[in-house]
Amino acid sequence: MSEGNDRSRAGQPAPSRTDAVVVGSGPNGLAAAIALAQAGRSVTLLEGEATIGGGCRSAELTLPGYVHDPCSTVQALALASPFLRTLPLARHGLELVHPAAPLAHPLDDGSAVMLERSVESTARGLGPDEGAYRRLFAPLVGRADDLFEGLLAPARAPRHPLILGRFALSAVRSAAALAQSRFTGARARALLTGCAAHSMLSLRVPVSAAFGLVLALTAHAVGWPVARGGSQRLADSLASYLRELGGHIETGRRIESIDELPTGSRPLVLDVTPRGLLGLAGDRLPRPYRRGLERYRYGPGIFKLDWALDGPIPWSAPEAAGAGTVHLGGSFEEVVASEEAVARGEHPERPFVLLVQATVADPSRAPEGKHTGWAYCHVPNGSTRDMTGAIEAQVERFAPGFGDRIIGRHAMDCTEVELHNPNYVGGDINGGLQSVSQLFTRPVARPVPYSTPLDGVYLCSSSTPPGGGVHGMGGFWAAQAALRAQR
Ligand SMILES: Cc1cc2nc3c(=O)[nH]c(=O)nc-3n(C[C@H](O)[C@H](O)[C@H](O)COP(=O)(O)OP(=O)(O)OC[C@H]3O[C@@H](n4cnc5c(N)ncnc54)[C@H](O)[C@@H]3O)c2cc1C
Repeated sequence: MSEGNDRSRAGQPAPSRTDAVVVGSGPNGLAAAIALAQAGRSVTLLEGEATIGGGCRSAELTLPGYVHDPCSTVQALALASPFLRTLPLARHGLELVHPAAPLAHPLDDGSAVMLERSVESTARGLGPDEGAYRRLFAPLVGRADDLFEGLLAPARAPRHPLILGRFALSAVRSAAALAQSRFTGARARALLTGCAAHSMLSLRVPVSAAFGLVLALTAHAVGWPVARGGSQRLADSLASYLRELGGHIETGRRIESIDELPTGSRPLVLDVTPRGLLGLAGDRLPRPYRRGLERYRYGPGIFKLDWALDGPIPWSAPEAAGAGTVHLGGSFEEVVASEEAVARGEHPERPFVLLVQATVADPSRAPEGKHTGWAYCHVPNGSTRDMTGAIEAQVERFAPGFGDRIIGRHAMDCTEVELHNPNYVGGDINGGLQSVSQLFTRPVARPVPYSTPLDGVYLCSSSTPPGGGVHGMGGFWAAQAALRAQR
């Protein structure tokens, strides 16, 4: 990957002529740097790894010519993001490409429930729940932009209270309760709980429904695209725009202590988790705040697989062939049981698997006629158990013959996920448990959650509201807090 005219200078001091320093180049770090540069600040962005992007990188993990996304691959939240979508990223090389349908959820009867762009066509596939699905989603989709604005933000007085209130009535419930009370059929129940399982919560706890609603809402309102050429292109386009604004990026600059950074540079915006902040500045933090960071809870981890495939995945349900994402967990009951097992600290025998076949939308990621596969399942935090067999058995269950298509494989357990990116503590890809108590107040309950007790030092990672995902809104809001304080 080209870093343009950026410098990679491990061990050298940061330049002193800079207003703002951002540590970490994940989507939130990049968004914070851009928002600060747009406000006229001179910005230096320091990244510990050799390449920028954090959870938005790509690499040839299996065989030459096969581009894989080790972390994020579906960029729906980038399209929903009230900040990222204002940026001229297409001019900086980003092309988001859509599969024929966002999602398929295969069932054991050989069919697949399809989440289509249109609410109407999705509802038509849900048998007895056609009307119920339309009634639940049509009003929300009609006000999707207002909802994204309200939800991808810290807790604050809502600008659109009526539609947020309508959303909240369903969202505060558990996904299992919402699915059982709104739907009578197996298809709609499986679809909703599969989407909610992205929360990495037990689907029987409050607010787990919110994740299912938001995911389906993004599918209808903006689609579930992938970045042509890999997610790295999204990070590269953000970096390119940052440079155009005068920003400066250095890779290979792992910061061990904030004392390494120029004292005059403010704000200092950190794309790190509470554990990262404790490492960078723990001894300087007042005790109550430090205690808050120490008490912060991380969620379950993931086991990740990437495959090089010598043909498309042979789904039993032909309609699944055109879906970008495929949820493999079978029935509502089975998905709920799998996520409950993980929440109890166990490894499910038949895990719920999130699979993306990016090459159905972006053939450029593999040689002609070949494909890539991306999948993970949830496991207890810190797990080192090899889940390859369990994940591949779930794919084989709905696509007999899948195993014969595998020509290359790359696996990461929780330890390796964290090695890839220190923000994924114990393999938690959301920067902390997304429970009711941590969703809007993360990492420590404060009027401005991005601020820290240290003057001019802010947090912007997914350990701040609105949590995990490639939306850059933690970065945007942290930058706004910093700019407000400097006025
Ligand atoms: C397997 C997997 C699949 C995912 N799938 C999706 C998906 O499909 N869609 C989606 O929206 N989200 C997905 N996510 C989540 C998404 O990637 C993250 O929520 C997002 O990247 C968080 O952005 P961030 O900027 O907060 O931090 P990160 O992207 O984690 O970036 C943090 C950066 O800071 C750097 N850093 C940390 N500490 C230091 C230090 N001390 N000095 C210098 N640099 C430092 C790190 O090296 C890293 O580059 C996935 C994540 C994983 C792991």
